[in-house]
Amino acid sequence: MRSRRNFIKQSIFGAAALGVAPSLVQASTKRVVTKPIVISTWDFGVAANQAAWKVLSKNGKAIDAVEQGVRVAESDLDNPTVGKGGYPDRDGHVTLDACIMDDQGNCGSVAALEHIAHPISVARLVMEKTPHVMLVGEGALQFALEQGFEQENLLIPSSEKAWKEWLKEKKYKPIMNIENKSFQTERLPGNQYNHDTIGMLALDADGNLSGACTTSGMAFKMRGRVGDSPIIGAGLYVDNEVGGATSTGVGEEVIRTVGSFLVVELMRQGYSPEAACKEAVERIIKKKPAIAKEIQVGFLALNKKGEYGSYALQSGFTYAVCTKEKQDLLIKGKHIY
Ligand code: ASP
Repeated sequence: MRSRRNFIKQSIFGAAALGVAPSLVQASTKRVVTKPIVISTWDFGVAANQAAWKVLSKNGKAIDAVEQGVRVAESDLDNPTVGKGGYPDRDGHVTLDACIMDDQGNCGSVAALEHIAHPISVARLVMEKTPHVMLVGEGALQFALEQGFEQENLLIPSSEKAWKEWLKEKKYKPIMNIENKSFQTERLPGNQYNHDTIGMLALDADGNLSGACTTSGMAFKMRGRVGDSPIIGAGLYVDNEVGGATSTGVGEEVIRTVGSFLVVELMRQGYSPEAACKEAVERIIKKKPAIAKEIQVGFLALNKKGEYGSYALQSGFTYAVCTKEKQDLLIKGKHIY
């Protein structure tokens, strides 16, 4: 019969061989959990985090925090990449994509939704009130109207003007590094934002995780084009045992690599949030090296301990972090190129 000491020894070595941190070591290590905490993509994440913080600081639930948080970006008419005021598709229709996921593995999503200013709240109701995960186009609109959402024109004059400008040349190419407002050198003249998404992850006072992701997608996209943002596993993934991840940038490459799911699974294997995001970005490079040099994709991740990190293909990606200590932190993400 194996002695108790031998059994423990074998368990530790067995765990190490699997790349899993031995539980004995974990038990004796002091685990400091930062919570509540909310993080989100890009400069506009700062304002969004503050709305989420109002919920989290009162011991509210992460799922409510992320919904309230990203609604701020959806309402911001100066933001041409999320919600009302988002740039339209090539035919002039503003079509919105969003998804949400809670700590129980419940999720809801809408894609190519028109005329509704807060797709994230529609996605939440898809999660809570239907047996489905995803509603698209006409059906998503019908559902939203049935739930009492108001139908409105989402194409505001400044976005219409930008679209008409774009129509002159109809150049359809994802332009990299025009997302960030802080770093002027990396910004194109004018307000020519091509793509940007708010992805938000929160860990609440009870230690539960949720996430939300919402966008108007790639500017002047083909009619019917849907990116990664409303796709669970691509634009967002949350596993309450491990952590959550979200993405921004050219969604096609994120879908191809099931990016956010990949980041969470890597964290499950012991990767830090930053290392997991880096590996996911490198996966994109490995699959499409030529394309990867030309585009932007950024991942953002938060684990169960409240540790966070990001990695992007190109410079220019920023993310916002909000904790009890500081509510308006903006961090320049690490990048490959
Ligand atoms: N990921 C979004 C999409 O592909 C856009 C973005 O984040 O820039 O639709």
